[in-house]
Amino acid sequence: MLSVEEALTAILAGAQLTPGEQVSLDRCAGRVPVDRRLRADVDVPPFASSAMDGFALRAADVPGELPVTGEVAAGGGLPPMLSPGSAVRIMTGAPVPAGADAVVPIEDANEVAGRVRLPAVTAGSHVRPAGNDIRAGDVVELPAAPLGPAAIAVLASLGMGELAVHRRPRVAILSTGDELIEPGQPLGPGQIPDANTFSLAAAVTEAGGEPELLPRVPDDEARTEAAIRSATGYADLLVASGGVSVGRYDHVRSAIERLGSLDFWRIAVQPGKPLAFGRIGGRPVIGLPGNPVSALVTFELFVRPLIRAMVGLSGSGRAVLPARCDEEIAKDPGRRAYLRVAVERSGAAYVARSAGGQGSAQSSTLALANALLVVPEGEPATRPGATYDAVVIGGLT
Ligand code: AMP
Ligand code: MG
Repeated sequence: MLSVEEALTAILAGAQLTPGEQVSLDRCAGRVPVDRRLRADVDVPPFASSAMDGFALRAADVPGELPVTGEVAAGGGLPPMLSPGSAVRIMTGAPVPAGADAVVPIEDANEVAGRVRLPAVTAGSHVRPAGNDIRAGDVVELPAAPLGPAAIAVLASLGMGELAVHRRPRVAILSTGDELIEPGQPLGPGQIPDANTFSLAAAVTEAGGEPELLPRVPDDEARTEAAIRSATGYADLLVASGGVSVGRYDHVRSAIERLGSLDFWRIAVQPGKPLAFGRIGGRPVIGLPGNPVSALVTFELFVRPLIRAMVGLSGSGRAVLPARCDEEIAKDPGRRAYLRVAVERSGAAYVARSAGGQGSAQSSTLALANALLVVPEGEPATRPGATYDAVVIGGLT
C-alpha cells in the first residue's frame, strides 16, 4: 500500500495544463489566468479625482472665504483650470481641476450666496492622485487562486474586457454497479440510488473542473471497458467509482490495466483503501472506491489537487487548522484516517467533535462535517486532548 503522499506524488507527476481560452470578464469568476502577471497599460485611477463631495481649491488659499466659480461632477468631463483664490464645488469621483491641490469635504464648508468659508487643509487632502492604486507600466500580480471578486475588480479597472484563462478540465464521471439506479426512481430489491455520480460532479465543479456525467454501467466487463475507453478518448480526466476492489464483479481496475497502464490500486488511507490510478492514452484515470464517503474523501485527497494542477494551481486550496479532539474516535491503526468532524472555535483554539458515525457508507455524517481530522498511521484512535490537523472542507463559524 502506498502512503497518501506517495500516491499524490504519482497522481500529480504527469499532470498536464489545460490550454488557455479567452473569456469575457463577466465569466471570469472562479477561473485561473494563464498568466498571473499583468502589465498595466493605464494608471488606476486614470486621473486625479476627489475622494469626497466638497470644494476643490488651493491649500495655500485657506483658511478663508473664496468665491465658488463652478461645479464638477463625476463623468462630467475635464473641468477648466482653477483660478487662484477661488473654489469649485466637486463631487466624489470627479476630476480635480488643474491648479487645485486639495478638497475640503462639504461637511467642513460653509457656503453662503456664492461664497464658501473653508478651514485650513494640507495639500493633497481628499485627492486621489492618478495611479494611486496601480501605475501604468506596473506589473500587477494576481493571486495564485481562482479569480474572485477583488481580482475581477482589478481586471475591470485595468480596462481588460476579457482574459486568457485555463480551460476548465473536462472530468468524465462514471459510476459502476448493478445495484445503482437513478435517484428518484422506485427501488427494486437490492437496489440503491446512485449517489456518486452526483456527489462527484458537485466535487468536480467545486474543484474548478467541468463535470461530464456518463451513463452508469453495470458490473459487466465489456461495458465497463467500453465506457472507460470512450471517455478517455476526449476527457482530460476520468473519475470512476466502484468496482476497484477484489470482488469478483470489480472490473474497473482490470479495464485500466487492459486499456493502458495501472500505477497502483491501494493506498493506506481511511476511508478509501482501494483506489486505482493509471493512464490510458496519456490521460489520467482514477477509480475511486464505491462507498459514497470513501469516494468523496479520496476525491478530496487525490482528485481535487489533480484538477487544480491542471489549471496551474498547487495544493488542495484548503485551510488546515490545528484542532484539539477531546474524544476517542477509533480508526484502523494501519492507515492514515481522515475523520469527519465538526470544528468550532473555543477561545483561542479550535476544537473538533466527531460528526457522528465514521462508516464509509454514512454520507449523512460527512454532510455534517466541516473538516477532516487527520490522524496518523500507527494510532488506533484519537487521543483525547491531543491536537491534530483539520482540513477545512466546509463552513467554519
Ligand atoms: P464497490 O466499490 O463497487 O465494491 O462498492 C462499495 C459499496 O459502495 C457498495 O455497497 C456499493 O453498493 C456502494 N456504491 C458503489 N457505487 C455507488 C454509487 N454510485 N452510489 C452509492 N453507492 C455506491
Ligand atoms: Mg460494486
